[in-house]
Amino acid sequence: MDQETISQSDTDVFNERCAKARCRCCDTVGLKPVLDLGMMPPSDRILKKEQLDEEERKFPLDVGFCPDCALLQILETVDPKFLFGPDYMYFSSFSQSWLDHCRANALDLIEKRGLDGSSLVVELASNDGYLLKNFVEKGVPVLGIDPAPRQAEAAEKIGVPTLNDFFSLEVAEKLTAEGKQADVIIGNNVLAHVADTHGVVEGIARLLKPTGVVAIEAPYVRDLVDHCEFDTIYHEHLCYFSLTSIDHLMRRHGLYLNDAKRLPTHGGSVRYYIEKVERPTENLKKLLAEEKEVGIDKLPYYQDFASRVQVIRQELSELVGKLRADGKRVAAYGAAAKGTIMLNAAGLNSESIEYVVDRNVHKHGWFMPGVHVEILEVEKLLEDQPDYVVLLPWNFSEEILEQQAEYRKRGGKFIVPVPSVRIV
Ligand SMILES: [Zn+2]
Repeated sequence: MDQETISQSDTDVFNERCAKARCRCCDTVGLKPVLDLGMMPPSDRILKKEQLDEEERKFPLDVGFCPDCALLQILETVDPKFLFGPDYMYFSSFSQSWLDHCRANALDLIEKRGLDGSSLVVELASNDGYLLKNFVEKGVPVLGIDPAPRQAEAAEKIGVPTLNDFFSLEVAEKLTAEGKQADVIIGNNVLAHVADTHGVVEGIARLLKPTGVVAIEAPYVRDLVDHCEFDTIYHEHLCYFSLTSIDHLMRRHGLYLNDAKRLPTHGGSVRYYIEKVERPTENLKKLLAEEKEVGIDKLPYYQDFASRVQVIRQELSELVGKLRADGKRVAAYGAAAKGTIMLNAAGLNSESIEYVVDRNVHKHGWFMPGVHVEILEVEKLLEDQPDYVVLLPWNFSEEILEQQAEYRKRGGKFIVPVPSVRIV
């Protein structure tokens, strides 16, 4: 079979998968094809050495758009127990700029909502308690909810009470029956991760006091598309929200999007403020009007995304190939989800990339999913001085380039792949 025949049949399969897919928000059947990244391993499922010879599970990673409620979404739902199981290694506390961002959010909520010792702040997917800790320090009672056992345990250790479970309508009802209702519900990068979107939103509605506020953050679909951030698409991220699609979703559960704030985190996110009464701010009306203007609710906005993604995949692959052919040594920085997607999408395996360094000590000695590149400590860059390092968490470029000033001073160069491949 020649290349063209293969890609034609892949396209047919993708189109058919989209035609059969049911929208995660409005139940419409038949999504519009946007991007097909092919078969990918779960992005956070790093491997031990002895697992390298075993067959690795991969799943289709493809994206469709719902013209009815404007939600961009991936088609495949991988069992969350598989994605976020006992080997799930994402600890939020490893990025200082993210910690600072969360602290500012906590202090802002305490002040604006007048939170005190009689309030309750609940966080969904509270990870290792890094955010709620800021409320605890100010004497505001909290409850974290997180399904990852190691992270929940780490949170308890720093004094953040944590329920080790997936948040659901059932969990919300149980808490409500115990007399717990929340003044503030925080969910950072969680709504996009859950398969049972409606169960979670209904659970939020149940758990929230009538006067309470929900503050959830999610990567913004406009930043994803405009800046070609395709490596933020992975099996854990089921939905790619806009204000328009969040507004749709919340209304189905008697909740109202009243305000929103664009944030630089994760390559561009939005914090949505949602309440039980409808009182949209002027700011929200303006942001919604902007979305209408760029056509976020229409297919043409998404139509050249796939070809722009293809350019990055190819350019990165060719650049590293050329450097290797010239005898240069190439490593990578950042063994997180984005890195998995970028390395796999550009076909960069252990033959082109010698190793990936990461600050997370739990990952050292493990291997990247799919491409099987070994993960080592960050100090390796200075000891070893490879010629080039592919900077995979480009959203932390500034922080990482600053940390690596010495490596760069000695002549080391970074390759940043997004929004377009460049050497710095
Ligand atoms: Zn829909």
